[in-house]
This record gives sequence, structure tokens and C-alpha cells, in this order.
Amino acid sequence: MAVSGTDLGHLRRCVELAHEAYEKGEEPFGSVLATADGTKLAEDHNRTSGGDETRHPEFELARWAAANMTPQDRAGATVYTSGEHCPMCSAAHGWVGLGRIVYVVSAAQLTGWRDGWGAPSAPVRPLPIEEVAPLVTVEGPIPEFEDAMKALHRRQFDRVAGVTGS
Ligand SMILES: [Zn+2]
Repeated sequence: MAVSGTDLGHLRRCVELAHEAYEKGEEPFGSVLATADGTKLAEDHNRTSGGDETRHPEFELARWAAANMTPQDRAGATVYTSGEHCPMCSAAHGWVGLGRIVYVVSAAQLTGWRDGWGAPSAPVRPLPIEEVAPLVTVEGPIPEFEDAMKALHRRQFDRVAGVTGS
């Protein structure tokens, strides 16, 4: 399945949400949940600054879907996200039976950038979504938004590292 103009619109919103998260002091990740016909149902961004490192938007959207959508509608839905699901979020997505995922940057890309900047290793391995939730259709990376997300993650890295001027 190719990426459509509707897909790109939702991905653009994910990048905006990641920026909003950054501006609020959160890690820059944003996600959108849309129906099979492309209508946005819900959106969220990372909310881990309070100390709960499980407050990822993809996890929140999976739980929202479980509470508010029929199994059939979940199966036809798409989750768009600025960064590939972590294993926790891939598992949540798989358990609630959501459909396709489209991400801007892969976990491998982000890990590679952060390693290059000298960031500490994450406590969870950056497994591809397919290794955790093999029934999910996955698309990405999306080159149109990669540079914007790399720049934003660099700003986040500099902020955490205490570099001034970021
Ligand atoms: Zn996650």
C-alpha cells in the first residue's frame, strides 16, 4: 500500500505534535489515529516529563481505540506517528487489533542519530514493529519529514545535555 496525500497530511500533523511536545518540555513524539477513510479520531504527543516513561502517544492511542472503537473499526484504522513504535507501543497496538502503522523515522534511524550524538542507550531495545506485532502492515520511513524530525531530536538531545542556545 502506497503512502497517499491523506497519509502525508496526518504525518505532517504528527510532526507538528512532536514540535508541540518539545515546546512543552516533553520528548518530541506525536501520533494520530485515523479511520479507514482517513478521518482523524484522536491525537496525542509524548507526556513522559512527569516521570512516567510509559506515557507514549502510541500507547495512549491504542488504549483510546480499545475503549472507543469496535474491533472491526480498529482493524481498519491507521496510526500515524513521528517515530516508529517502541516495543511497548507495538505490543499495545497488536493486542488491541489496530491496523496499519505509518511512521516518519524508524527506531533504527533515531537510535543511529542518538548514538552518533553520544546519547546514552535506551533501556528498551529498538525492535522493528514487525518483530513485536507481525500482523501489522507497516510503512516508513517517510523521507519528506525526516530532516525536520532529525533537527527536532537534535534540539531535544542538546536540551537534555544542557547545551545552551537550543
Ligand atoms: Zn512507545
